[in-house]
Amino acid sequence: MISKISALPALLLSIAISFGACGHDKTATLTAAQSTAPTTQADTTLPTLSLPADSGPPPAFDSGRAMQYVKEIVAYGPRPLGSANHKKVEDYILAHVKGDEVESDIFTADTPAGKFPVHNIIAKFPGAKDGIIVIASHYDTNYPLRATAYVGANDGGSSSALLLEIANQLRGQKRDGYSVWLVWDDAEEAMKPESELAFAEDSLYGIGHLAQKWQADGTIKNIKSFLLADMIGDADLNIDRDLNSTPWLEEVVYQAATRLGYQSHFFERENQVTDDHIPFLQKGVPCADLIDFDYGYNNVFWHTPQDTVDKLSSKSLEITGSTILETVRILDKMDALPPK
Ligand SMILES: [Zn+2]
Repeated sequence: MISKISALPALLLSIAISFGACGHDKTATLTAAQSTAPTTQADTTLPTLSLPADSGPPPAFDSGRAMQYVKEIVAYGPRPLGSANHKKVEDYILAHVKGDEVESDIFTADTPAGKFPVHNIIAKFPGAKDGIIVIASHYDTNYPLRATAYVGANDGGSSSALLLEIANQLRGQKRDGYSVWLVWDDAEEAMKPESELAFAEDSLYGIGHLAQKWQADGTIKNIKSFLLADMIGDADLNIDRDLNSTPWLEEVVYQAATRLGYQSHFFERENQVTDDHIPFLQKGVPCADLIDFDYGYNNVFWHTPQDTVDKLSSKSLEITGSTILETVRILDKMDALPPK
């Protein structure tokens, strides 16, 4: 188990809650801040942000349609790497972005469980401004749980559905701001139980490949921000402040949530998350991971067959989807985005 105390503000009292020693990806230490006001952590390093005036209507987001997508993805059953269900969900996503500009990043991953086809799907919505904002979600389900009824309604299902609805909102709109690229990435999940192999050494196969590809072809220099959604459908939504994420971008997310009146769902807890943003963070891209890693009391539903649609709410999809779109709107209007 990792027991990592992060660089918290000196005066912030915190309670470290450790998860059990059984397999868990994504994080190890959860910190419940006792301050109700989210902290601007590392004030000394946070660049001055010049946020545009608060104007414009809240972004449109059809949460009922997004929830319907969750149900349709889950209805295919478990979708581990290499399975027929996985292929069906690939085709399902591709059918929804048919007619959009789509890039496929297909390769064979050599994993501890063997070689598997991996398929990252990218839908691109061009903007007038030079630069790209990436919004990502993984869509595979955990491989070691493949023989169970585990369908990952929240873990992989909710965020992938969210991106499908974001695509609906971007499609056909003339964008004055940055290009927005939606990434449904594959093979995020571990191939072996964590009791056998650490998550950090056995995960993020798809997004790691994409980050390398975009570094090699120069694309990555043009990515202004990387927003990740993961486990955001929980009816009891409390998105963590991820201490691996880029502080200024987390602050923009919080401002976006505040404008929409959703700030009480953000950043009550602090956490340090290993997730799909890490390969991009390591390559210097500003990243924010929007994740609620407390799914049921003590995260009891995570990676169990109880991760089902009845634990989710369309309101949570609306909160996350609208906040992401509002974040994009703010980023579009900011004069210059700080580097990482
Ligand atoms: Zn997972």
